[in-house]
Amino acid sequence: QPTARWIAVEDFLSEAVVRPDSTLNHAVATALEAGMPPIEVAPTAGKLLKLLVQLSGARRVLEIGTLAGFSTIWMAQGLPDGGRLVTCEYLPKHAEVARANLAFAGLGHLVEVRVGAALDTLQALADEGAEPFDFVFIDADKENNPHYLDWAIRLGRPGTAVVVDNMVWEGAVLDPSLDTVNAPGIVSALKMLGEDPRLDGTVIQTVGSKGWDGFALARVL
Ligand code: SAM
Repeated sequence: QPTARWIAVEDFLSEAVVRPDSTLNHAVATALEAGMPPIEVAPTAGKLLKLLVQLSGARRVLEIGTLAGFSTIWMAQGLPDGGRLVTCEYLPKHAEVARANLAFAGLGHLVEVRVGAALDTLQALADEGAEPFDFVFIDADKENNPHYLDWAIRLGRPGTAVVVDNMVWEGAVLDPSLDTVNAPGIVSALKMLGEDPRLDGTVIQTVGSKGWDGFALARVL
């Protein structure tokens, strides 16, 4: 059965190569204990986010969709001295668990968890004249993906790196009627990645513990 083999390989790669530390394992465990859905990125993807933050030299990171802070911890671990991460979360309970996990990881001073609908938080960041973000990770309500991409451009700068998770969605991008809540937003975001003159991007398909999916990587032009 291919899915079981994908997961077995992912587990092997996580243990042999990625090796999440105890603070990351703690974040996953506390989320489960709190009854939160296990929809954090896979460890292999979390490590990729950390490496991309480091390779892009990002000092300011914006995340849309915190959950329990698993991907937040990965990215914050990639920040240089003086770096900063702002993460947007709608549910107060998720934000509370994430803050505790970030504190446990010794990263609380680098990360601001902002509670509320991300579209409001992003507008507030713009109103406050926030310094441009160097790296943006989009992983929240998929119907707003095109708006989040637009905000990533507006709150970024030429050269800002943008990662968007869940861009294949078990192939539903070819038939959005399979998931009328999430697929249309993903399809619109894909169209934007291909056609918006402010973006240059690609999408990589993935398989593993999170099923058949993929992520986009784009550069703001
Ligand atoms: N990035 C996290 C990780 O990999 O560890 C996973 C994020 S989870 C897939 C999506 C999160 O986005 C959930 O915690 C959900 O409550 C939050 N969310 C959903 N709609 C939102 C909105 N409109 N604004 C902000 N957060 C939202």
